[in-house]
Amino acid sequence: MTSNPKYIFVTGGVTSSLGKGIIAASLAKLLQAQGYRTTIQKLDPYINIDPGTLNPYEHGECYVTDDGAETDLDLGHYERFLNVPTSQANNVTTGRIYQSVIDKERRGEFLGKTVQVIPHITDEIKNRIQILGNSGDYDIVITEIGGTVGDIESLPYVEAVRQLEWDLGEGNTCVIHLTLVPYLSAAGELKTKPTQHSVKTLMESGVQADILVCRTEHELSHGIKNKLARFCNVKEEAVIQSIDASTIYDVPNLMLDEGLDKVVLKKLKLKSNSPDLSQWNTFVKRHKNPKSEVTIGLIGKYVELQDSYKSILEAFIHAGAENEVKVNVESIHSEFLSPNDVEEKLGHLNGVLVAPGFGERGIEGKIDAVRYVREKNIPFLGICLGMQMAVIEYSRNVLGLTDANSTEMNENTSHPVIDLMESQKDVINKGGTMRLGSWDCKLESDSLAYESYGHTEIKERHRHRYEFNNDYKSQIEDAGLKATGLNPDTGLVEIVEISTHNWFVGVQYHPEYKSTVANPHPLFVSFVSAALDYKTKQ
Ligand code: GLN
Repeated sequence: MTSNPKYIFVTGGVTSSLGKGIIAASLAKLLQAQGYRTTIQKLDPYINIDPGTLNPYEHGECYVTDDGAETDLDLGHYERFLNVPTSQANNVTTGRIYQSVIDKERRGEFLGKTVQVIPHITDEIKNRIQILGNSGDYDIVITEIGGTVGDIESLPYVEAVRQLEWDLGEGNTCVIHLTLVPYLSAAGELKTKPTQHSVKTLMESGVQADILVCRTEHELSHGIKNKLARFCNVKEEAVIQSIDASTIYDVPNLMLDEGLDKVVLKKLKLKSNSPDLSQWNTFVKRHKNPKSEVTIGLIGKYVELQDSYKSILEAFIHAGAENEVKVNVESIHSEFLSPNDVEEKLGHLNGVLVAPGFGERGIEGKIDAVRYVREKNIPFLGICLGMQMAVIEYSRNVLGLTDANSTEMNENTSHPVIDLMESQKDVINKGGTMRLGSWDCKLESDSLAYESYGHTEIKERHRHRYEFNNDYKSQIEDAGLKATGLNPDTGLVEIVEISTHNWFVGVQYHPEYKSTVANPHPLFVSFVSAALDYKTKQ
């Protein structure tokens, strides 16, 4: 425990996509492993209120917290690394900052003053940064500032950092600047100039970086580190190399080897202990030394994008390590899948996951995929839209309701087996209005879900507007697709299963959001194990 919360700011220079989120999460892990209660927050300089309204082409996956915030996917990394839930307070956008300032203005709270970026917007940013620190729950708050220094939209955030450093005083804050040290193969050299320039840009706003974390494809020599230190005004021990790693789960140990935690703690005037990473290292060892492998198809419509199904891919890594199996995920585009090529594209798989999604594009391919795996007894996990597709497929091909559909795809279907939730019928606005966040679910004891979780009461996170239409429940259950998990208050069907199948589970919620290194998700663990069994039996 520290007497007052300490703040670490992570800024980015030179280019985007350097992996600030992973560096922040890795540092947080090292601090947590030394007994410091640590959390991470992401400030995003765009004007959307949250990323819930952004499509995956723009923004990758939208991550959902227990309290129903639709957030940046970096929060997923924070939870996976720290095993501590995040909340609405952990992700703040410029849109939200402006919205609260404008709401205050309308309430007359500024008492006739002119409302300006400085001090009103910067004050709001400072408040948002300190909410977590002032909660008393954390010793250290790491605030990751999205974007790259020098961007017009980042300026108020950098100014807020400058002011907070001034307000809180020496020893209470630390600025880490993540930069790129590119290698020019023609010259055969690593170049420090882009870093010098981005540190200078930060200084123009009055912020001096205390630590440089340098992304690089090659080892930084002593000479390069010394040069960076001298030109960027940091101690040489504060020039940290972040070399490309084969897995993000190596980064905490790489940062430990470079002494990132030590320089940070010294700057914050905190004691440095030796971190206990034993559980983490057991996971990394298992992840890197699988005893066998399975191939699982991921059927979605954003499969060409690395970040769209981030949490699903990470959940497979956790579940793979737990089973000591390497999970090869084969991305299959649902839009180009048809009954003619389903055998060719899915026949070799040991398991199939049908992904979440919205809208009509690619859904017939998903339905064809479900039919194939159901008939071939291939382990199947359907998530959210994937579960809804399983219900539609069963209704069409087993119950013979050939026109069965979701009203999301066809409002006039004669068999709306998936229908808009009652609570959604009057909803007009798109942002933040889905059924979001953690809801209770009660499991049937005679089910795969119960076998996986080991208890009957669970809580899982949601993000949807449509649901299983209970008017069809008895019909569908009598035909063999059982509802094995229900919301105890509303009766909303959360899980469907076919008990005669090898492993066939559809869930209305998103298990992937809750899978962490310390707690691999039980459904993913069980699914991967089923895929391995299936492969062994083949
Ligand atoms: N589009 C579906 C719904 O809104 C499924 C959502 C999802 O897969 N997250 O219900």
